[in-house]
Amino acid sequence: METPHCGLLIVGAGHAGSELAVAARQGGWTGRIVLLGEEAGVPYQRPPLSKAYLLGKTDVESLALRPATAYEAAGIERMQRARLVAIDRAARRVTLADGSVLAYDKLALCTGGRPRPLVCEGIDPEHPPANLFYLRTLADADGMRAVLRPGARVVVVGGGYVGLEVAASARGQGALVTVLEAQPRVLARVAGPEVSRFYESVHREAGVEILTDTGLARVECEGGRIVAVQCSNGQRLQADLVVAGIGMLPNIEAARDAGLAEDGGIPVDDLSRTADPDVVAAGDCTLQHHALYDRQLRLESVPNALEQARAAASWLCGKPRPNRTVPWFWSDQYELKLQMAGLSQGHDRCVVRGNPQARSFCAFYLQGKRVLAVDAVNRPGDFMQVRRALAQALTLDADRLSDESVPLKDLLAESTAVTGKP
Ligand SMILES: Cc1cc2nc3c(=O)[nH]c(=O)nc-3n(C[C@H](O)[C@H](O)[C@H](O)COP(=O)(O)OP(=O)(O)OC[C@H]3O[C@@H](n4cnc5c(N)ncnc54)[C@H](O)[C@@H]3O)c2cc1C
Repeated sequence: METPHCGLLIVGAGHAGSELAVAARQGGWTGRIVLLGEEAGVPYQRPPLSKAYLLGKTDVESLALRPATAYEAAGIERMQRARLVAIDRAARRVTLADGSVLAYDKLALCTGGRPRPLVCEGIDPEHPPANLFYLRTLADADGMRAVLRPGARVVVVGGGYVGLEVAASARGQGALVTVLEAQPRVLARVAGPEVSRFYESVHREAGVEILTDTGLARVECEGGRIVAVQCSNGQRLQADLVVAGIGMLPNIEAARDAGLAEDGGIPVDDLSRTADPDVVAAGDCTLQHHALYDRQLRLESVPNALEQARAAASWLCGKPRPNRTVPWFWSDQYELKLQMAGLSQGHDRCVVRGNPQARSFCAFYLQGKRVLAVDAVNRPGDFMQVRRALAQALTLDADRLSDESVPLKDLLAESTAVTGKP
């Protein structure tokens, strides 16, 4: 039997895969485009899974990234419930879990990631407890939604953005929520101490118990379900459900076996090119060399997945447009919109502009006078201005920055924009 030939084969029908398919068609790819993914249904947005969808404020239809008809109109063929297991780069073929083989001219790997599994005494990885939840897919969110109810005792392991969003949504459903965070503060990986403290206080005010410097020591199970957890500080908490939000592992096994990935992800450049001229990769599964920072980064965000996908499509279509976007991200908890841009690592000073008590402020991360990053809480206008300015080296005077009587746009206009790396 002849091997079906896909032209452009995109593996992973998530944010990056869906965008790459459409951008390639719009960019002039005239051949066949096949978008293959292991999930069923139309590619959907993940961010609402821990927010509006978990709260029951939005339905499954509105999660779609684009309607099914948009793929049909663009001549993009979708293969659902199809899992890539091996790549033969020399023959330009892939093998799927059902044994079928597909040939390609160009392959795009957009396989995202999966939740890091919770390993601790009392959990048999072969038979995980029925009320231990992770949150990556629509199916995960549906499972959690079915058991979240007023009065349910929820233990969230991990105080990162997914854990805190789940905590806020579970609290919004009337559940009794405790967050265990092994680090001394929540959001330690993504935000500065000022912002962490602010979010801890917001959650506590909402009735969520936040235990920092506290890990999970052991779970107690009965009949295949967790009934209580033992914390590293000796505390025992009864639990109706446990949610683990302890990070993500990139889905790179097939790429690694094909010599295209290392432990942290699939290395790509700013056109999303891998080491193989016939293979691009985009989204959470990549380890990108970011031109603005001149170093390798793994970014886990929708804006990054979209930008990398567009850069890949531009290259595939012979009109290369490298991705030079300042990394940015958002998180919604309660009525708060947190938006973050830049990378704060290496800052020596944090300047707060605005009033955390009024729940509207920006935290600027400075190295000397150089602004490395900003976190904005309920300040979308300020965020947009600063995000744009961060694309160039931005220097600001800390005293004037904290003085709200000086308009931000004046400060940005005055700032010495020195060309160079942020
Ligand atoms: C609960 C939650 C909330 C989030 N909130 C935000 C937010 O507020 N803001 C933000 O910017 N980002 C947020 N993110 C992160 C964001 O969703 C990811 O960065 C984004 O989904 C990455 O897109 P991707 O295409 O790389 O991966 P994904 O969207 O994960 O898509 C990858 C797809 O590939 C499929 N796949 C994997 N392996 C294979 C294989 N071998 N064969 C076939 N298919 C395969 C997967 O099933 C999946 O459908 C959130 C993530 C989660 C889980």
